Amino acid sequence: MSAHSAADDDTLESCESCGHETPHDVRIEIRTESAKRENAEFSREPYRVARCVACGGESALRMNNA
Ligand SMILES: [Zn+2]
Repeated sequence: MSAHSAADDDTLESCESCGHETPHDVRIEIRTESAKRENAEFSREPYRVARCVACGGESALRMNNA
């Protein structure tokens, strides 16, 4: 019975808006991109989204750097 909420898992990262390290809510988000319009082919790319809990600023980082 250890249901930890994600809020407990604070990650300290430097925030550009705040100018110093602040706790961030980090989540993985699958975003759909239309890579090739000709084929109407959509690629689903995982993004690591970190939201600063102090200012609410979000920064998304693509995990697949192909
Ligand atoms: Zn911030």
